[in-house]
Amino acid sequence: MHELTIASALVEQVCDHARDRGASRVGSIRIRMGALSGIAKALHFCFPSAAKGTLCDGAVLYIDEVPLTVMCVRCDAIKTPSGHYNFRCPDCGHPTPKVITGREMQLASIELVGADAPPAGAHASAGATDNSLSSQGI
Ligand SMILES: [Zn+2]
Repeated sequence: MHELTIASALVEQVCDHARDRGASRVGSIRIRMGALSGIAKALHFCFPSAAKGTLCDGAVLYIDEVPLTVMCVRCDAIKTPSGHYNFRCPDCGHPTPKVITGREMQLASIELVGADAPPAGAHASAGATDNSLSSQGI
């Protein structure tokens, strides 16, 4: 996966949504990213250039890291391994190739600015947080 491609796809998806709502720009974007994806820093770095000249220009990108959890078939329980590359149950040592969380990347919320066209005199920069994309992957 190339980080700039991911950043561009993210910007495109958020801009589509912002345009649908008639927003003048995007205030902030929050995404959930699994600990295993390992691109949070790179995405932070690429985001401003991907957002340049779009409705996302100047938006703040928040990344919530989702911890790694795996399924242990021997314990029949969800476990948290001691390290990102240690796919063994911390309790019984059984290999745990089945990753439950830690690989995902999804939009959590988007803050739109000017979406509801506030009347003159109201806070022009008042944004509306939109959680309707919570189940949507990128
Ligand atoms: Zn176990």
